[in-house]
Amino acid sequence: MTSPRLAIIVPCFNEQEVLPDTLRVLGDLRARMIAMNLISSESYLLFVDDCSSDATWEMVRRANSSDKSVRGISLMANAGQQPAMICGLEIASDDADCAVTIDADLQDDPEAIIEMVKKFVGGADIVYGVRARRDSDTWFKRTSAHLFYRIQRAMGVKVLYDHSEFRLMSRRAINMLKRYDERNMFLRGVVQSLGLPYDIVYFTRNPRLAGETKYNFSKLLALSIDGVTSFTSRPMRMIFALGIIIVFLDIIVGIWALTSYLTHRTVTGWTSLILSVWLLGGLILMSLGVVGEYIGKIFLEVKHRPRFHVREYLK
Ligand code: UDP
Ligand code: MG
Repeated sequence: MTSPRLAIIVPCFNEQEVLPDTLRVLGDLRARMIAMNLISSESYLLFVDDCSSDATWEMVRRANSSDKSVRGISLMANAGQQPAMICGLEIASDDADCAVTIDADLQDDPEAIIEMVKKFVGGADIVYGVRARRDSDTWFKRTSAHLFYRIQRAMGVKVLYDHSEFRLMSRRAINMLKRYDERNMFLRGVVQSLGLPYDIVYFTRNPRLAGETKYNFSKLLALSIDGVTSFTSRPMRMIFALGIIIVFLDIIVGIWALTSYLTHRTVTGWTSLILSVWLLGGLILMSLGVVGEYIGKIFLEVKHRPRFHVREYLK
């Protein structure tokens, strides 16, 4: 078998501080892998600029004009990391045999790509990069990330612990992914549900080379809510179960109230009345919130909006 053509896809959002290093490190890695005969010389880097407001796109353009193994896509509007990656994957599937997605900050060790490609050549359609350790992350990031995985699991979503978006996918896997037309795509979950042969590569996560994280708390929260609501309706079922329990409690309370009334032991139950009104009000609001989350999803899905629009593709 001839060596596969690899595309390394890098979503970038305001990454001017780190991009020169990223270009150098990934370019060097590509050259070494070609020298090792592991990938074909037609392999390339594909930078997806998620509508950065800094010099990111200028840098990609400059790199592309001097080196055709660096390609760039610029998106019209900030679509987010996942849509940017999906855009890159879709375009790479036109001519690459396999594609690796990696963050621009190189927190995920690029050297692991060598191992990933070896496993792809060995027959795996998907190779997940899994963090062996995450000491470099802050306590908050670590704890919130683990909580994130745990909640996902408890809700019945299949997720791999300590795997984010650093993975290799074969063209076959990407083509299968392309058939998922949903807007709220939770990529890791969908990829795992494809059912293709997979493997795992462990790596150490480094601190960000430069610049700052592009994920704030609200973006992270949105991602984890997406992860649950686009895969399972278990939260709704939990609310339903809670409803049943409340109804049973109501029957007991009702019997107690009725016997109190019949035996003339009624009290001016203002406090308990107010308490139950608040409790029920809270529960109703909670249920509405959950239902609303799903209706919001349906709303977005039926609109069938395109996930991104490409402004320019430098080949
Ligand atoms: N990113 C993006 N669009 C966004 C936010 C982030 O393309 O709206 C990219 C970002 O440039 C980086 C990757 O997604 O390459 C991961 O972001 P970051 O490293 O800031 O996240 P963290 O590692 O802190 O979770
Ligand atoms: Mg990062």
